[in-house]
Amino acid sequence: MSSTFTETEERQELRKQVAKLAGKYGREYFTAKARAGEKTTDLWLEIGKNGYLGINIPEQYGGGGGGIGDIAAVCEELAAQGCPLLLMVVSPAICGTVITKYGTEEQKQRWLPGLCDGTSTMAFAITEPDAGTNTHNITTTARKDGDGWVLNGRKIWISGIDEADNVLVVARTEDAKTGKVKPVLFVVPTDAEGFEANAIPMEIVSPENQFQVFMDDVRLPADALVGDENGGLVQLFAGLNPERIMAASFSLGLARFALEKATEYAKERVVFDVPIGAHQAIQHPLAQSHIEIEMARLMTQKAAALYDAGDEMAAGAAANMAKYAAAEAACDVVDRAVQTHGGNGASQEYGMAGLLVATRVGRIAPVSREMILNFVAMHSLGLPKSY
Ligand SMILES: Cc1cc2nc3c(=O)[nH]c(=O)nc-3n(C[C@H](O)[C@H](O)[C@H](O)COP(=O)(O)OP(=O)(O)OC[C@H]3O[C@@H](n4cnc5c(N)ncnc54)[C@H](O)[C@@H]3O)c2cc1C
Repeated sequence: MSSTFTETEERQELRKQVAKLAGKYGREYFTAKARAGEKTTDLWLEIGKNGYLGINIPEQYGGGGGGIGDIAAVCEELAAQGCPLLLMVVSPAICGTVITKYGTEEQKQRWLPGLCDGTSTMAFAITEPDAGTNTHNITTTARKDGDGWVLNGRKIWISGIDEADNVLVVARTEDAKTGKVKPVLFVVPTDAEGFEANAIPMEIVSPENQFQVFMDDVRLPADALVGDENGGLVQLFAGLNPERIMAASFSLGLARFALEKATEYAKERVVFDVPIGAHQAIQHPLAQSHIEIEMARLMTQKAAALYDAGDEMAAGAAANMAKYAAAEAACDVVDRAVQTHGGNGASQEYGMAGLLVATRVGRIAPVSREMILNFVAMHSLGLPKSY
């Protein structure tokens, strides 16, 4: 019998199976692909073929009929094997959820099966150079043009454009002149005329790239619009709680990977006649990280359980806290893992330093730690809005 504080046997089995699959690939495969400028398409397709990629999507569209808790478990176990796939956050979790909730029957049938089996990937673009964290200030504008739309604007830091055939773009309608943005969502093909993307050189060791995107009179048919043009923020928010829960899981998988490597190393490396792990200066920081990771995992599971139970409000608070706690735990454990490895901590062979930026990004994206603290101060503590 499972208690409230453990995951179901089915979820635990899912974790085991995904870990086994990802373990066949492992960190060396992932970093070799990244350093060669190649993609991890074979891993992506294999998780798709096994039903893990679309596990949160309804069965009638090729998915597994599970919840965010399931896809988050998949994301975490992949990262825990050294294969963190950022596009899992974006394609099945954000785009898959928004289309499932707000797409028409025809749109669901057109896009979801490909997202599930991995043959089609969808990126997600909300961030803009001038708006930054303040997404209410986005200026990418959709103008009505006959039956269709014309899109103009710029986006930045958009992950995976080179692997995606479509992008779910957040824009505003042209007649939203009140200063209050009514966000509208469009599926934009990456090969559309007027759509251009340039890769941004990053210091992250990953096959997944980030892009600056330019949309210059991109013409879209009427059915590129997902949801109601007057639907407002609620349609966008449908993707944001899953995004935070997935980002937490991504960080936690990497945190577990670093902790496992550091612990193994601390048991084996002998100086001053005993393994370095016999010293409290080495073992206490690792024990502390184990506690921090477990606490953040619990919060992430709580957020996913609330979301899957349909309690969006409570899930929002929990997802923010989980994402914060997971990013902090991941940054701290990677720093400790580098220290535990001594000089090897900076080598490519041991791969710890390569995790520094990957985990550090967790404090910035998809929502920064400052914005989470702003949210918690205001919504959980009732303090004045500070931003
Ligand atoms: C690797 C990576 C992948 C990404 N992938 C995507 C993607 O696929 N799609 C997408 O749309 N976006 C993506 N992003 C963008 C990401 O969501 C943004 O970088 C993030 O939201 C922060 O925005 P910004 O970079 O403009 O920072 P800014 O808004 O310029 O903020 C800079 C700093 O100021 C702080 N700050 C700003 N305002 C306040 C305030 N009022 N109070 C306190 N602190 C404040 C911020 O917390 C931050 O620390 C990605 C980013 C990275 C790094």
